[in-house]
Amino acid sequence: MRISFSALETYKQCPKKYEYEHIERKRGPKGVASIFGTSVHSAMRFMFSRDPLFPTLEEVLAHFRESFSGSESVAEADKSRYQQSGERMIRIYYEKNPPWNFDVIDLESRFEVPLEDKKTGMTHTIAGSIDRIDKTGEGLFEIIDYKTSRKLPAQETVDANTQLAIYQLALEKKWPHIDPEHVTLALYFMKAGEKLVTRRTRQDLDRTREEIIDTIHSIEKRIEVKDFPAKPNPLCDWCSYKPICPAWRHLYRAQDKEAPPDDARPLIKEYFALKREVSEHEDRLQEIAYSINQYLDAQKLDRVFGDDGSITRSQQERTSWDTSKITSILEHTDFWKDILSPDDKKLKKLLPKLPVDLQEQLLADARIVKKFTMLKASTKNALPEDDA
Ligand code: SF4
Repeated sequence: MRISFSALETYKQCPKKYEYEHIERKRGPKGVASIFGTSVHSAMRFMFSRDPLFPTLEEVLAHFRESFSGSESVAEADKSRYQQSGERMIRIYYEKNPPWNFDVIDLESRFEVPLEDKKTGMTHTIAGSIDRIDKTGEGLFEIIDYKTSRKLPAQETVDANTQLAIYQLALEKKWPHIDPEHVTLALYFMKAGEKLVTRRTRQDLDRTREEIIDTIHSIEKRIEVKDFPAKPNPLCDWCSYKPICPAWRHLYRAQDKEAPPDDARPLIKEYFALKREVSEHEDRLQEIAYSINQYLDAQKLDRVFGDDGSITRSQQERTSWDTSKITSILEHTDFWKDILSPDDKKLKKLLPKLPVDLQEQLLADARIVKKFTMLKASTKNALPEDDA
C-alpha cells in the first residue's frame, strides 16, 4: 500500500473521514484552518529562499497576505482574524530567528520511505514532505516541522510524535551516510513562538515502522469489509464531511424545519434529566459513605445495622505495575524477549517462571498495591421489627 503520513493521521483520527477522503475521493471545501496553514507554510518557505538575498520581513508578510487573502473560500469575518494571527506568528518568528542565522539545506523536501511488511512479504510506501532540513554543525542535522494550529504540547507528546520519526526514516533513506544519532527533530509552534526538540533511537524507529505497518493492516482489513466507522472527535467542527457524516446526521435533521417531528427528542430529554438525577444521588451516596466510615472508625466497628439492612466494611487491594521499573529490571535479562513491553497479562504469565530473586525484585520495586475500603449493603440483615 502507498500512503501519505497525513492519510495515516486522518485514519487514526477518524476512519470515516479517511474513507471519504482517500477511498471515495470526495472533495469537500477546504476549511479556513487548512488554507491558513498552507499560507503560513508558503510564507516560511519564501522566508528561507535566497534570491540572492533573503527576503525582508515586509516581503514575507506581503507573500503571506497575498496567499491567504487570495482564497475566496474564507469568510470575511474569519479573514481578518486569521490574517492578523498569521502576520503576528511570522513577525515573531522572523525577529527571533532571522533566516541568515541558519544553514538550510532543504525546503519542503518530498520523500518516499519503503516499509518491509514481514507478515505479508509486501513493501508499503509512506510518502510526504519535510518542511525544512538544517545543517546545525559538522555532520549534525535538524529536521523542522512548523505547526500553526496547535498549542504548545507537553515534551512527552513531542517525544512520541510519529510524524517526526517518519521524517527521520526519510532522512536516512535520502542520505544513508548520516548518523541517526546526529539528527535532532524539532516541532516549531508558530503561535507560541517556541521550538520543541526531540530525538529517536534505532529502537524507536523500528517501533514506528511496526506501528505504521499495523495501521496499514487495519486499513486493509477495513477496505476488505468496507467498514469505516465514524469516530466523532474534537476536530469534527473543522471536518468538511460533517454535513454528510452519519455521526452528525441526526443533528442536521433536527435543524431541518421541513423534517417530520422527531420521536426521539422527548426520550433524549428525559434521559438527560434522569442522568442528572442519578449523578446527584451518586454525590449524596458518597457523602453518606464518608460519614458512615467516620462513624465506623469512631465506634471501632466494621458493620452497622439499620431498618432496611446492614452495611459491612471490608478492605480491598488492587494491584498494578510500574512499567518503567519492570523495563529496567527485566530489560537486560533473557526473559525480556518473552514480554518485550510490560503488559499486565504477559507479566502474570511470566512471573511464575522467573528466578526467585527477580520475582522478589519485581514484587518489591515494580508492584503498586492500592488499598481501599468498600462498604457493602445487604437488605438481608435488616433489624427485626420488634428490635427496631
Ligand atoms: S465529522 Fe467527525 S466523525 Fe464525521 S467524518 Fe468528520 S471527523 Fe469523522
